[in-house]
Amino acid sequence: MARVRTTYGRFVQAAGWDPLEDILARTEQARIGQRHAGPRLPDAPPGRALVAGLGRLGSWVGLFLAHLGIPLVLLDRDVVERHNLEAGNCVFRSSDVGSPKVVAMKNLLAQQAPGVSVEVYQGDITLMPEDQLRALGELVRVILALVDEGQALFNINDLFCQRLAVIYAAGHRGARTGDVGISRPGGACFRCLLNIDSPAQVQTLSGEATHGIDIVSIAQVCVRVALVLLGDQRLGNLREVLDPAVNFIYIQNRRSETNPGGFAPRFLRIARRRNCPVCGAV
Ligand SMILES: [Zn+2]
Repeated sequence: MARVRTTYGRFVQAAGWDPLEDILARTEQARIGQRHAGPRLPDAPPGRALVAGLGRLGSWVGLFLAHLGIPLVLLDRDVVERHNLEAGNCVFRSSDVGSPKVVAMKNLLAQQAPGVSVEVYQGDITLMPEDQLRALGELVRVILALVDEGQALFNINDLFCQRLAVIYAAGHRGARTGDVGISRPGGACFRCLLNIDSPAQVQTLSGEATHGIDIVSIAQVCVRVALVLLGDQRLGNLREVLDPAVNFIYIQNRRSETNPGGFAPRFLRIARRRNCPVCGAV
């Protein structure tokens, strides 16, 4: 039986599925400590990042990146709804209800991070012509793929995995755990990171109750990774991410029997699948 994999919230739906056990079965503990420059990224305006999806993770990621002065391109299809406003789960305000998320975010960032370049596009990745999506990618050096729809994630992966670093993040059940995957040109793509072949294998639990602090802890790992990939060292160089062998960070937000110490990231390596139609033929 195929296991249910989830994304952003790709929240784990299948009862009894232990994401860590499953992920560890497919990974090696990455050797950490060696520093690498990583693959050369294509030239682009310095430091610009595309945040695709302004939901629970993407809205915080956009806010934190803007506070750090990172020029942004924001892409989202939705409007702010009242259920988006649960405490700590996103950055939107009650006055934003009914506005496109990209507009609400641009207004918020104009107040909170004035002077930072923010371009916004409202659109559905699954309906956008490929040329349009490619053109957005040409504006940036890093993509944060924080949408919650499998087809959109596949479209981003299939178009960009050989061109740009792409960060994928998710909360699992209740966001008590989460993960941040990194696809780099020449490395494992999103399909390989999750060991999936079809967008239908990505399932969303959009109504999953979460605590803001758990969402924010996953978002801040995304931001730290993005800064490293942009060559920005202000938050430290997160040398595990500089090592291209590391492409998956499993985040434990809470204490558990196996994790008595509470919040902890684990740095892992997931290999390309040789038969992957997207990255395996390289
Ligand atoms: Zn692949």
